[in-house]
Formats: sequence, C-alpha cells, structure tokens
Amino acid sequence: MKKNQHTMQDPTTQYPVMDIPRQSQAEPGLDAELHPKADHGQHSYEGTERLKGRRALITGADSGIGRAVAIAFAREGADVMLNYLPEEAEDAEQTIRICQESGGKVVSCAGDISSEQFCQELVGRTKDELGGVDIIVNNAGKQVYVESIEDLSTEQLEKTFKTNIFSMFWIVKAALPHLPKGASIINTASIQAYQPSPGLLDYASTKAAIVAFTHGFAKQVASRGIRVNAVAPGPVWTPLQPSHGQPQEKLQKFGQDTPLGRAGQPAEVAPVFVFLASQESSYITGEVIGVTGGNHLP
Ligand code: NAD
Ligand code: MG
Repeated sequence: MKKNQHTMQDPTTQYPVMDIPRQSQAEPGLDAELHPKADHGQHSYEGTERLKGRRALITGADSGIGRAVAIAFAREGADVMLNYLPEEAEDAEQTIRICQESGGKVVSCAGDISSEQFCQELVGRTKDELGGVDIIVNNAGKQVYVESIEDLSTEQLEKTFKTNIFSMFWIVKAALPHLPKGASIINTASIQAYQPSPGLLDYASTKAAIVAFTHGFAKQVASRGIRVNAVAPGPVWTPLQPSHGQPQEKLQKFGQDTPLGRAGQPAEVAPVFVFLASQESSYITGEVIGVTGGNHLP
C-alpha cells in the first residue's frame, strides 16, 4: 500500500538514522548535491483541498523545508509564488516542475531578500501574477557556523540579520495593504531561538528575534483578521546544514541526539505549515509550533 502523510508508522523508523558522509558545499547549498537525499513529500504528500484557491508566497522555496511546503501547498490547491536565490536555479526548476503537476498556478521570482527593494518587488510580483496574496511563508534563512565570536565578521552578522529577520519586516510591510481578512503569515524560527548552539550566535539571535516578532506582530494585526505564527524546527536534513551550517563532526550524527533518535525530513515539517495556513487553525495566532523530534521548546 502506498504510504502518505496519514499512514500510521513508528516515527523512530519512519526515516533511517543517517550517518552522514563527509561533505561540504558552498553557501547556499544545493539539494541536487545532498547525500543522502532529503524527502520533500514528493512521493507521499496527498492534498485534500485544504488551501483551495489561496495564493501563497514562499521564500527559499527551491530546497529543503521551503520545497516541501511548496509541494504540500500546491497539492492542497494553492497557487504559489516561489522565491529562491539565482544560484539555486537548478533546485528551483525541480520544485517548480513538481508543483506544476498539481495543476495550480506556479510562478517564481529569483532574488535576494536581504535587500528591502527586492522584498517589495517580490510582494508586488506575487500580487500581480497570482492576483493577490493570502499566505506568506517567510522561510528563507542563512546559517553559517562560526566557532568564536572573534571570527564572526560584521559582514556575516549583517547578512544573517538582513536575510533572516529584516526581510520579514520588509515583506510583511509591503504585503499588509493587500492582505485580506483570513490571511495567514507563517515565519520559520528554530529550536535555536530557545537552545542556542555556541557556534551559531548570529543565527540563533535572529531566530529569537523571529519569535518575538511573531508574538508581537500577531497582536498588532489580530483585529485586522490576520494571523501570524511560527514553526520552529529542530534538526532537519536540508542543504543548509552541509553548506557551513554545521561543523563536520556535528554533521556526521546530525539529529541523532533527539529523543526520536534521528534527523527530521522536510516532508515532516510541511504539514504544520499547511495547518497554520488553513482555516483549521483559526483560533491560533502568535504561536510557535516546534517540530523538533522531542527536544521540545521551553
Ligand atoms: P535550505 O538551504 O534548503 O533553505 C534555505 C533557503 O533560504 C535556501 O534555499 C535559499 O533559497 C534561501 N535563502 C538564503 N539566503 C537568501 C537570500 N538572501 N535571499 C533569498 N533566499 C535566500 O535549508 P532549510 O533548512 O530548508 O531552511 C529553511 C528554513 O528553516 C530557514 O529559515 C532555516 O533557518 C530554518 N530551519 C532549518 C532547520 C534545519 O535543521 N534544517 C532547523 C531550524 C530552522
Ligand atoms: Mg536552496
């Protein structure tokens, strides 16, 4: 029997415990060069029209969690705008092709969200090409491991903050006048917001800021009928990790220190985004949902 996201399974064996072979990619990493391969739900996710007719903007949608969210949203009946960096065109083409199989509208826009001007352009194109915007998934992120603050350059610090948190301000500010009542904004935080690794100071700080932004912005726009939530993943196997997101020795046993004993796959994170995007979560706003394999949020 073909398994889908509803099939009952043992979560400890649903995906293998991976001993990750040595590998390193330039930033941003490519899914095409990831070993072993990640699971984005391409062969399992079945939609049930939970997002029928919604128009969704997803940043960093070429690979990893963003690709899994794009596939799930398209299969739930949404039209999608996929953003990614120009150097990730190969991964993006794959995501676009899979999403197109669902029959909805799939448009894309390559560009760097660490620029306010590009964030405004991205929102404008989403509105023009999809006819509006109902869902925003702020997913793109930068994570570069640096052991000591003495080696953390101001250039990296600024780029990480601009990409991970400034972009959220710029994108939602540009989109707000166009968001209808019932719209949903979903930010991607991390367990790092609560349990920061010593070598991810800049990244973890942005993730904590994303949590505060989510709580506060949810209160600001609640009366306008707009909900704002965040998803906080634990270790998930994506190109972010072998492209200097982790040191080699941590990469090898990536995710094995979770209670479930393995890393998560992008396919296991996407259903939470679907839930938060859909009307099923109508009374949930300002919330952060962990997908951590058991190393819970405090
Ligand atoms: P990923 O590398 O597949 O996705 C990140 C994407 O961010 C890239 O594909 C790239 O398109 C995009 N990006 C980076 N800088 C950008 C920029 N300046 N402009 C536009 N796009 C840019 O990795 P992922 O793990 O799927 O990451 C998605 C989100 O999940 C990130 O916010 C990350 O911090 C978060 N997260 C991941 C993990 C994990 O273990 N993988 C854990 C917690 C949180
Ligand atoms: Mg990518």
